Amino acid sequence: MEIKKIMVIGAGQMGGGIAQVSAQAGFETVQYDINMELVEKGMAVMEKNLNRSLSKGKITEEEKAQILGRITPSVSLEDAAGCDLVIEAIVENMEVKAKVFSELDRIAPPHAILATNTSSLPITQIAACTKRPEKVIGMHFMNPVPVMKLVEVIRGIATSDEVYEIIEKTSEKMGKIPVECKDVPGFVSNRVLQVMINEALWELYEGVATAEGIDNIMKLGMNHPMGPLALADLIGLDTVLAILKVLQDGYGDSKYRPSPLLNQYVNAGWLGRKTGKGIYDYSH
Ligand code: NAD
Repeated sequence: MEIKKIMVIGAGQMGGGIAQVSAQAGFETVQYDINMELVEKGMAVMEKNLNRSLSKGKITEEEKAQILGRITPSVSLEDAAGCDLVIEAIVENMEVKAKVFSELDRIAPPHAILATNTSSLPITQIAACTKRPEKVIGMHFMNPVPVMKLVEVIRGIATSDEVYEIIEKTSEKMGKIPVECKDVPGFVSNRVLQVMINEALWELYEGVATAEGIDNIMKLGMNHPMGPLALADLIGLDTVLAILKVLQDGYGDSKYRPSPLLNQYVNAGWLGRKTGKGIYDYSH
């Protein structure tokens, strides 16, 4: 099967980036969110990214227009009817994703693949919300999507070899490097990364060092391009908390228990860059 048309569900930081790389790769792309304001906000970020590429001479004005011309905004899941692949990138919540997947299963044509960009939720459980579990797969892009090379490809227990191969090829066409992984809580990436981020949050909670101090130690000492607390703000503290809860429930191990500081920040609505405040302040 050849993938020609892709629908991306969610125009947030991940969905917007996925729609951009999809359109850049030449796929006809539908960008969905629950209202037009959110779709337009996602499209504005995409245009800003493309303008940066334009000013660096990586694309021409004509290419920019072609990329944007391949994207159709949408506020109706019914638009999945004409798509070969749907990539979901909405909130990290099983109940919400389950509802969207059962809807997509009803709407999308029988041959269509339903992929999820979940950071940690079981692909097998998401697949079980549909009548096509062999066509459900994890396609885990990294943030920021246009820049990061990896796509972690996660097979649910029922995912077919054919679907895996199509997703591998589609990721490559988007300029990414796919790496296969089993369906365990947090997969490979977040099982390692979130433990480090959580430990940094515990250190901040205990006053071991300042936020800048913790981040500088990890940047200068471990050669990380970004400290764990700045990275948590980039990911979104709500998403970090949701992933840690999946790890804690999934492995039943208290080593994944979220730092109380993380709960407090999320309760305050301080979610990181996307709200202008998280561990750091982004308001000016
Ligand atoms: P975000 O909060 O920036 O965006 C989520 C978007 O989904 C919002 O615009 C929201 O309106 C939309 N949406 C569409 N339909 C929805 C529905 N039915 N219910 C709720 N929201 C709906 O989130 P994000 O950071 O883009 O994360 C999206 C997914 O990608 C999550 O599963 C997350 O775990 C995963 N992910 C995030 C990162 C990261 O660094 N943030 C990295 C890899 C994967």
